Amino acid sequence: MGTRDCNHICDESSPGIGEAGRTGEWRTHLPVIDDKRCTASKLNKPTCFLCWLYCPEAVMTRSIPPSIDLEYCKGCGICAQVCPVQAITMAPEEKKLG
Ligand code: SF4
Ligand code: SF4
Repeated sequence: MGTRDCNHICDESSPGIGEAGRTGEWRTHLPVIDDKRCTASKLNKPTCFLCWLYCPEAVMTRSIPPSIDLEYCKGCGICAQVCPVQAITMAPEEKKLG
């Protein structure tokens, strides 16, 4: 029996407030997407989305162009690592002082 036939219901995860608050508050680097390099944006087609698939915080959208909810992005850099065309770079976070 395949997994589609097992009658189990599987939910997609979605971002939410964790016990430690918004994960974006302690991020040191943030992902920046270059839409000119992103395959989905360049082709204007719902394709690739490896960044969406592998983001552990489920904060990447499966949209054209993909976007990121920085309130909950923890800056892990996984999206940048899995992007096959290096469309995502990790930029140092500018912290507000004082
Ligand atoms: S992994 Fe890279 S190319 Fe693929 S959708 Fe995300 S940003 Fe675009
Ligand atoms: S840096 Fe990590 S948490 Fe933030 S969008 Fe990329 S994969 Fe998700």
